[in-house]
Order: sequence, then C-alpha cells, then structure tokens
Amino acid sequence: MAKSNRLTIPLIPVRGLVVFPYMVLHFDVVRKKSIAALEEAMTNNQLIFLTSQHDGLLEDVTENDFYKIGTVSKIKQLLKLPGDSIRVLVEGLYRAKIREVTKTEPFFEVEVVEKKSTNGDLDELEFEAIVRQISYIFEDYYRLSPKVSPDAIQSILSISDPGQFADTVAANIVKKNEDKQSILEEFNVKNRLEKLLLILSREVEVLEIEKNIANKVRSQIDKNQRDYYLREQLKIIRSELGEGDDIASEVEEYRQKLEAASIPDEGKEKLKKEISRLEKMSSSSAEAAVIRTYLDTVFDLPWDSRTEESLDLIKAAKILDEDHYGLTDVKERILEYLAVKKLSPNIKGSILCLVGPPGVGKTSIVRSIAKALNRKYVRMSLGGVRDESEIRGHRKTYVGAMPGRIINALRIAGSKNALILLDEIDKMSSDFRGDPASAMLEVLDAEQNYAFRDHYIEIPFDLSEILFITTANSLDTIPRPLLDRMEVIRISGYTHEEKLHIANKHLLPKQLALHALKKSNIRIKDDTLREILDGYTREAGVRTLERELARLCRKVARTIATTNKQSVSITKTNLHKFLGPKKYRYDLLKEKDEVGVVTGLAWTAVGGDTLSVEVNIMDGTGKIELTGHLGDVMKESAKAAISYIRSKSAELKIEPDFYKKYDIHIHVPEGATPKDGPSAGITMATALISALTNRPARKDVAMTGEITLRGRVLPIGGLKEKILAAYRMGIKTVILPKDNETDLEQIPDNVKSCMNFVLAEYMDTVIKHALLPQKEAPKSEKDMEIQIPLDFNVSENETHIEAKPY
Ligand code: ADP
Repeated sequence: MAKSNRLTIPLIPVRGLVVFPYMVLHFDVVRKKSIAALEEAMTNNQLIFLTSQHDGLLEDVTENDFYKIGTVSKIKQLLKLPGDSIRVLVEGLYRAKIREVTKTEPFFEVEVVEKKSTNGDLDELEFEAIVRQISYIFEDYYRLSPKVSPDAIQSILSISDPGQFADTVAANIVKKNEDKQSILEEFNVKNRLEKLLLILSREVEVLEIEKNIANKVRSQIDKNQRDYYLREQLKIIRSELGEGDDIASEVEEYRQKLEAASIPDEGKEKLKKEISRLEKMSSSSAEAAVIRTYLDTVFDLPWDSRTEESLDLIKAAKILDEDHYGLTDVKERILEYLAVKKLSPNIKGSILCLVGPPGVGKTSIVRSIAKALNRKYVRMSLGGVRDESEIRGHRKTYVGAMPGRIINALRIAGSKNALILLDEIDKMSSDFRGDPASAMLEVLDAEQNYAFRDHYIEIPFDLSEILFITTANSLDTIPRPLLDRMEVIRISGYTHEEKLHIANKHLLPKQLALHALKKSNIRIKDDTLREILDGYTREAGVRTLERELARLCRKVARTIATTNKQSVSITKTNLHKFLGPKKYRYDLLKEKDEVGVVTGLAWTAVGGDTLSVEVNIMDGTGKIELTGHLGDVMKESAKAAISYIRSKSAELKIEPDFYKKYDIHIHVPEGATPKDGPSAGITMATALISALTNRPARKDVAMTGEITLRGRVLPIGGLKEKILAAYRMGIKTVILPKDNETDLEQIPDNVKSCMNFVLAEYMDTVIKHALLPQKEAPKSEKDMEIQIPLDFNVSENETHIEAKPY
C-alpha cells in the first residue's frame, strides 16, 4: 500500500450484476478462486474488489475477462451454504480502477486506485430538473412494470446526492449489465445523470413494445377464456329463464358436427359465427329457427361422403342391357366413359345430353347408368325453371330462403360423387328474374364447378366429382353456350317391332310385377299388342304404351280378385272392354290420287307424323292465304315455293300470271298442333304445282325437304321418325333430300325392305315421282277447287273407328 488512494486487495469477478457504491447486496460465491479471494479478504480488512465479467457465462476467468473498473466493497456477512458455496453480503464503498493485477493464483489480487466522482458544472437546478425528468420516466416505468414498489421509487427520489442518486437508480432500474457498467464507469456526475436519462428512456420504450407484444399474445388467450366464461354465464341466465338447456345442448351438438365435418376453412369460420349467433338467441325465436334450418342444411350436405364407383365394364354392360332394349349409342358411350375412367381416374368426363322424343327411355337409362356405376342417382327436373335462384338458391336475407336445386339434389343424394340427371334442360327458360342457364353453365363447367357457390349456403361446394347427364326433347331451345359444353347423343323413336319387343321383354314384366300378377295371369298375343300400339298410342316412345299396359294389368287384377279366374286372355276383340274405345287411328292412305293434296312428313314432339298439305286455287286477285296454325318458318317456305313456281312457270306449263289472277289458299289440317319448320317446303311446292297444273299427286308418296328459290331440295332433321310415320301410314315411296342419304342407315331393315326411297336434289325429281300426268284438260277454275280429304285426327271421345290394316 503505497499511496493513500491505492490499495492491493483480492478480486472477485461477479457474473450478471454490477456492484455500485452505497449498494448493499448479497450474492453466492461458488468458484474456488473466488472463495479463496473471500478467505484472503476475511483475514485482512474484509475489503474486496468486485468487478463484472464481460461474459457472464464464462467459468474460468483470466485477467482480461473482467472490466477494469469496479467497486471496492466491504464484506458484511458470510453464510456457508450447502455444497461448498458461500453467500456473501457486501456493501459497495467506492469506485476504483485496476492499475495492475498483482496475482492470479490462487485468487486474483489487484492494485486499485480510487476514482472519485466529480460534480462537473452541475448546479442544483440542473440536478432538480434531471430528477424530475427521471421521476416522470419512473411514472411510465411503474405503469409498464409495476414490479418496483412505489415506496422504493419514493425513497430513491429522495436521495439528495446526485452521484448516489444516479447509482441507486442504475442499480435498481437499469436492466442490462453493459448499461450499468457504463454508468459505473462515468465519473462525471452530470454526464452520468444524462447517460442514465437516456438509458431509462430507452428502457421505457422497450418495455412499451414488450408490453404490446405480451398484450397481443394474451388477448388471444384471454378472448378464449372470456368467451368461455360468458358462455357459462349465458347458460346460467338461460336456465334461470327456463329456456336453457335445449339451445345449449343444440349448440354443443352443432359445434361437434362442425368439428367433425370436412368443410373448407372459409366455411368453418362462417358456420362458427352462425352457431355463436344461435347461442345468443332464445330457442323459440323465429330467427333461431332460420339459423337452425341453415345449419341443418349445411351439415346435411355430403362434404366428404362418396360411394365407391364401380368400374367393372362387363358388369355395367350387363346391367344396361338387362334394363333396356336398344339405346346402343348411350350404352356404348357409358362403357367408353368407364374404360377411360379406369385408365385415368382423374379425367373429367364430358356432360352427356340425351336428346329424343318423350318416352324413349332417356330418364330410365340414366337410372340404370347410375346403378351400373354404383353412384347415387338424383333426378332434377328443369322443366319450367325460369329463375336463376331456383338453381342457385335465395340469399338467406330473404324470408323463406331456400337452397337451390343443385344443393337440394346433393342433400338427397348424400354423396359427393352422385349422378345427377338434369331432366328437360331444353324446357328451362329465362325471364326478368334472371337467367337459370347462366347458373347451369357454372354448374356444368369443369373449370368452375369445383367451387360452386349457392346463394343460401354461401360456402363453396365442390361439384367436380358429380356426373351430370342431361336430357332434352329438342336442341333448339338450349342456349348455345350450354349446348357447347355437352356431348349430344340422339335417341330416336322406336318402330312397331321395337316397341313390341320392349313391351314383351320390359314393360309387361315390369307392370306385372308392380301389380303383383304372375305371367300366367294374363295372356296377350303380339297382334293384340299391335292393336294397342295402333289404337291407343300415338308416340315415338313407349310411355303411353306403358300406361295402357298398366291399365290393362289393373283391370286384370280386378277381374282376378273379383272372379275365380286365374288367367285372363286379352284379344283384339275384347281389348276395348279393358281399355275403352280406341283413341287414335293413323292416317289412312288417301283413297285416290288427288289434285292439290300432297302428303308431307313432319317431326313433332311426339315423334314423326304425316301431314297433308292442301291447296285451293280460286279466281281472285293474287291473295295468298295460309291456314292451319303455321309457324313463321313454314309461312316463309310457302312463299319461297310460290316464288320458285313463278320463276319456273314456263317449264311447269303454268300460266305465268297465275299469281295475279288467282287467290291461293294453302291449308295444313290438324290445326290444334302448331306446325313449324322448313321441312314442308317441297310438300307445299308440290301441292301448289299439282293444283296449278291439275296433275294429281300420288296417294302412296310422301315427302320431306326444304326448298330454295332455285328449287334445290335441302336436308332436314328427324328423318327416322318421319319415315316410321310414313311406314305406319302405308306409304310406299318417300322422297327425301339427297343430302339425307346417310340417315337411311338408321332405318330398320324391315321398314327399308318394303319402301322406296327417292333421293331428290332438285324439285324436278320430286315432281317426277310425286305427280301423275294431267288427266283431263284443265277445268274451269271453279272445278279446280279440291275437296278436303278426311281429317285423320279423331277426338278422344269419338267412338271406335276401325284401325288401318297394318
Ligand atoms: P323419357 O325420359 O325419354 O321421356 P322414360 O325414361 O320416362 O322416357 O321412359 C318411359 C318408360 O319406358 C320407362 O318406364 C322406361 O323404362 C321404358 N322404356 C323406354 N325405352 C325403353 C327401352 N329401350 N327398353 C326398356 N324400357 C324402355
């Protein structure tokens, strides 16, 4: 000990704390070297130099690992702790700086020199100001971290020595050791206070941020807890009001359902909200009922349930053949679909559209397809749908809102990969309430329908696994964009032979089973069935036939139940007893070849039909009259026919000014059925020419084809049905457009073999085959009026008219 302010004493490097003068604190000493230093100090003057380690985690410390400035402290008390460690109570005395490390083993010993604090130019006012500043910061500090007691803060604020004040604040409030050390190393009190102010402000800022983060984390947890408490309270209030348990248990049930359902996340959020809304309502309120219906509907949907599709081609083919006769195109297309699906499971199939007249089995084959594929089947009729919301549903805000038909179909199906039959898609129409076709477009579009959004459900539903099949009677009224998305398969009507086969193999067995009859209960021969076909049905399909057979079975069942008979025989002669008088007779061949009356062929909703076009030429001024409920297109083709005749009058040997001298009346009987389309063009032209040239038209010739102004014969549709109608009527020759030649392939051989087909490219071919040579010299105009032939339509209540010979 040379000079008075120098001292050689043992040193303990302390970890994680900085000892300031005036500070009394205790810490535990564990390291051997530090214990040795302690012991050395105790044998001398109990003074020890305490300085911080740079790195608090370091065990073996060298002389470079601690700060050079520390505090000379007095050991006040020692307490031996279990396990060789010692708890020391020390009091900081003054700052000192190491001049030299005099010993490093067995403990550190250093020569230190005291460092006095200088007040600098700090005057009292400045000190006062800083203390105030610090007290403000304390307020914030206390607000953010109320760990420090207000008393402690008060006692700190009352320290009057500026240096000591700064040290005490640093020791108690400052968190980081580096900051504390930097305060310790500041000997100028004014600087020390300023530094402290800076550190404290920063400290408060960090605390603020810390608190914000903590708040965010906590608020999430708090909210859950809060919700839980509120819910519990609500339950109690409810039970006090006597409306408690049912809604609570209901809500609980919905929550469990929500947990279990594989609904997209967006949907789950929405449902959660709805459930919470329900929870706050009185169970009997109308609004609660609305939410309940909504939730039930949503949970009823097959979010994740599907049937396993059967891809067995042989089995499928068998099922399809068992259920339906013919319909080969449809059956083949389905088997192709299956084959492709087998090779490439994720392929998106196209949407089939089965087009054909009623009763040809469109609906029922689709049911069989569902059976063959092992998919659930739902039929959705689109006939008369004229409002978009029928497809897509009403928004929940509407009173009595409901989901749309697609969602309803899914509910019924209960399977995500059902087969949905969209029946009569051509009967869908649009009006001011919106266009259902555009909603249908979205449903059928593979690019969009994986997230179909119903207005009511509001949660997207994936329709991509659904197999859609549509049916239509005609393609004319299907909007083009919708049609473009579908693959059309045409199903034409059946011939008599085919109908007979279907009746024997399918319809009759089905009806017998439905009426609990045995095959032996009813005896019916083919010619009786033919009689039913001719006299009681008039259709391309077999729907009425099936109905008549059902009627027959009912009557037979009644006979068997009321008499002792075990078998009823139905013959041509007693048929009317079962089915009543005949309803139809097919058009008979005209009795003779007539002038101005020509048989045409038409395609109507019930299949093919014959139609006779009559023309009367009368003295007049060139008026043209068209009667018989003709559509615009038909009227136009009549005019085209007249223009053609005018341009060819010389060739046809017709008076060139006939259109000025005569009034022409064209009539197509059977006014109740509206007729339209261009396919009667050549028929009208032929009838006109027949009337104008007085050449009789052959009674056994029928024709169909559109006419151009140049007399070309253009192709038409529905040829098979038309030819079948001609065949029924007993026509021998059918004149048809040359371009329709390929359609003849569809005509059954038995029909083809007893008919002639004339393929016409121009009107002259038609005239050549349809008109006979002029019989006599032209009569006076009065005589040219032609008698109207027998009308073939017999009203329902008209009694028995003998059927035509088949
Ligand atoms: P569409 O849907 O074309 O109007 P449906 O499917 O309602 O016709 O058919 C009417 C009835 O005729 C059904 O009972 C159906 O089973 C039967 N049917 C139609 N075509 C056939 C066929 N090719 N084979 C067996 N039954 C048929």
